[in-house]
Amino acid sequence: MKRTALRVMVGAGLALLLAGVIPLAHAQAPAGMKLYAFSSGGLTVPKNFLQAGAPATAIQVPVGFYVVRHRKGNVLFDTGNNDRIITDPSYWGAFIQGLNPVRTPDVAIDVQLGKIGLKPDDFKYVVIGHMHLDHGGNVGKFTKSTIVLQKDEIKNAFWGEPGTPQNYIPGDFMMLRNDPGQLMPNKYPMIQLNGDLDLFADNSVVVKRWVGHTPGSQMMIVRLPKTGTVILTSDSVYFAENVTKNLLPDVSLAYDPGGIFAAYQYIREMQAREGAKFFTAHDPDAWKAMKKAPDFLE
Ligand SMILES: [Zn+2]
Repeated sequence: MKRTALRVMVGAGLALLLAGVIPLAHAQAPAGMKLYAFSSGGLTVPKNFLQAGAPATAIQVPVGFYVVRHRKGNVLFDTGNNDRIITDPSYWGAFIQGLNPVRTPDVAIDVQLGKIGLKPDDFKYVVIGHMHLDHGGNVGKFTKSTIVLQKDEIKNAFWGEPGTPQNYIPGDFMMLRNDPGQLMPNKYPMIQLNGDLDLFADNSVVVKRWVGHTPGSQMMIVRLPKTGTVILTSDSVYFAENVTKNLLPDVSLAYDPGGIFAAYQYIREMQAREGAKFFTAHDPDAWKAMKKAPDFLE
C-alpha cells in the first residue's frame, strides 16, 4: 500500500475516533449559534434577601437578560425592567424606592439589543424565566414573537397565590390578554407550557419547567458549538455560591424551597455530565467576569 493511502486511512480512522469522543451535546449544536448577555441595569437589595442568612447589607446586583442566535430564529431569555421606569419612576410605585433601579437611558432594551443590530420584532421566541418585574418587564414590546411561558406563571402573574403576587407589575403584561368578550384569551402568539420544550427540536435550546422561585419559573438550557452547555437560571439561582453552599433565598422569594434545592442539584448533575456552566440574572461577581454584548459565546 502506498504511504499516502495509508496516511488517508489512518487520518479517517482518527477522525472517526475523535467524532466518537465529542460529547453528544456539542455534536448537536448548530454551527453559528451564539449566546449574548445584556444588562437591564441593576437593583439594590439587602444581601440576605437573595441569600438567607447573609448580612442585611444593601448590595447592587445586575439585572441580566440573554439572547441566543440560532439559524432557525433568535430567542430572547427574560426582558429586564420595564423601560418605562427610565422616564416615569411612579410606574413601579413603592418598588422604585425599595429597589433603586438603574434608570439611565442606555439600559433600555432597544438600546441594549441595538448593540448587536436587533430590534424587538427580530425574535422568533421570547422565553420568560418568570414574570417578576425585573424579568417580564418589557414582554409587551415583543408582540411579533411567540411568548413562551408556563401556564402556572401566567396564572400567578394575573391572579397570584396568597403571599406571592408582590413582585409582579400587572401593567407589564396586561396587554397580552385579549379584551373581555373576545373568542381567544391571547392577544398575541403564546405557548403556554406545563413542562419542558425543545424549541428547535435539535436539543440546542431547551426550556425547562422549574417550580421553585415562583409557581411557574423556567430555566433554559443552551448547547453551544464551542462553549458547550450553558444553563440560564433566571431566579432559580441568585448567586453561584447559593448552588455550591446549598443556600436558599429569603422565604418571600422561595415559593417552593424544595424545587430550588432540586434546581441546584440539577445544575451539579449537568456540570458533571456535560461540563455545564450556569448564568444567573443577578450575581454581581459572575456578571463582572461575563462576556457582555456585543461580545458573545459561541
Ligand atoms: Zn430577578
